Amino acid sequence: MDYDVVVAGGGPAGSSTAFHLARRDIRVLVIDKETFPRDKICGDGIAPRAVRTLYKMGLQERLDGRFNKFHGFRFAGPGRTFIETPIPPTPRFPDYGYIIKRVDLDKMLLDYSRENGAEVWEGCRVTAPLVEDGRVVGVRALRDGREVEVNAKVVVGADGPHSTLGKAMGLLENDPHYLGISIRQYFEGVEQIGDHLEIYSEKAIIPASGWIFPVSESMANVGVGAMLYHIRPRKMDLHGLLEAFINETPHSSPKLKNARPVSPVRGALLRVGLGRSKAECPGMILVGDAASMTNPVSGEGITFALETGEMAADHILESRMGGRGIHHDPEEDSFKQKLVDRYDHYFNMGIKSIKWLDRAWVLKPGIAFISHSQKRLDFVVRALMYMRH
Ligand SMILES: Cc1cc2nc3c(=O)[nH]c(=O)nc-3n(C[C@H](O)[C@H](O)[C@H](O)COP(=O)(O)OP(=O)(O)OC[C@H]3O[C@@H](n4cnc5c(N)ncnc54)[C@H](O)[C@@H]3O)c2cc1C
Repeated sequence: MDYDVVVAGGGPAGSSTAFHLARRDIRVLVIDKETFPRDKICGDGIAPRAVRTLYKMGLQERLDGRFNKFHGFRFAGPGRTFIETPIPPTPRFPDYGYIIKRVDLDKMLLDYSRENGAEVWEGCRVTAPLVEDGRVVGVRALRDGREVEVNAKVVVGADGPHSTLGKAMGLLENDPHYLGISIRQYFEGVEQIGDHLEIYSEKAIIPASGWIFPVSESMANVGVGAMLYHIRPRKMDLHGLLEAFINETPHSSPKLKNARPVSPVRGALLRVGLGRSKAECPGMILVGDAASMTNPVSGEGITFALETGEMAADHILESRMGGRGIHHDPEEDSFKQKLVDRYDHYFNMGIKSIKWLDRAWVLKPGIAFISHSQKRLDFVVRALMYMRH
């Protein structure tokens, strides 16, 4: 079986890559081990920057009116007070985002890539890259219990933070300074659900932060997350921190006291801030979480999954336009360098700033200082959501 491009993984990064290639008549196959709709552990927050990308892909009609929107943020203030701020209007980004359960978002995106010409194999696990003379020339996969080999001019690893392909080619780095962990649970009956993303760095859960994101009028996605290097040395466990977030903290617990869980607690790894990921080798590039493309401060990764999918498609096509045919060779044209040029500065600032997030004595006065000026709050929201370029 021969394709121009094989994409391992049909999450936002894989679907975006496939969509951008298929609509330009590239023969692309997406392989995902799951059958969609499938759950994905996430906060379900779709930031304004991601919304802009989804609209650019032509998805506005499928989103508008169907899913909950958020229009601002609510942070924990001193005592039991809250600091509320809207998403500042800018010419380039919508002043709202969505909260969409990943079970819905990912199916919509994968279906959309199929409608635009991608072939999709669901319930099929990629087990290894096919390598010839040091170059990736396809993938090996398990389909209907049988091993199959698929050849491709370029392979894209969009297979998430545990990327089988990235691991096999030695592209993943496991530096704890670039690894986070988060858990979440859905709750019904949450009180005073508004249209804000609520993010609370409360004393009882530091160095973790907690969130309550409004999925519907009564349901919320509730979770906590932290960097591994913050919680490991203190032997803290996230389940205990989620308990504390639900039962003990002044801002979140009153909202959750009558709520009942409607899903199990589930957690996942986050690869953040480009994480020294190598992201490419001859014949293969990594995108989304596989390339460590999650925001180190907010844990937001859908934006960067969608964007790196588009960048990968452009990169693969630029190689063709250069007259070499669909092709990837880092020595001739580096995809990693494109990621560094676009995101490294922003991610580095995030990596530096989260070093301080495990210290209440920095957080408290910092939040007080920011909250006294709307200009500073706007700046923080724009920075958090990467609302530039
Ligand atoms: C608890 C938590 C909360 C988060 N909250 C947010 C949030 O609110 N907003 C936000 O923007 N981001 C959030 N993120 C980050 C976000 O979930 C990821 O950045 C995003 O899913 C990355 O998309 P992706 O396509 O790269 O990877 P994924 O979404 O992980 O998709 C990878 C796909 O690859 C498939 N796959 C894996 N291995 C194989 C294999 N061997 N063969 C075939 N298929 C395979 C998987 O089934 C999956 O469908 C959160 C993450 C966590 C853990």
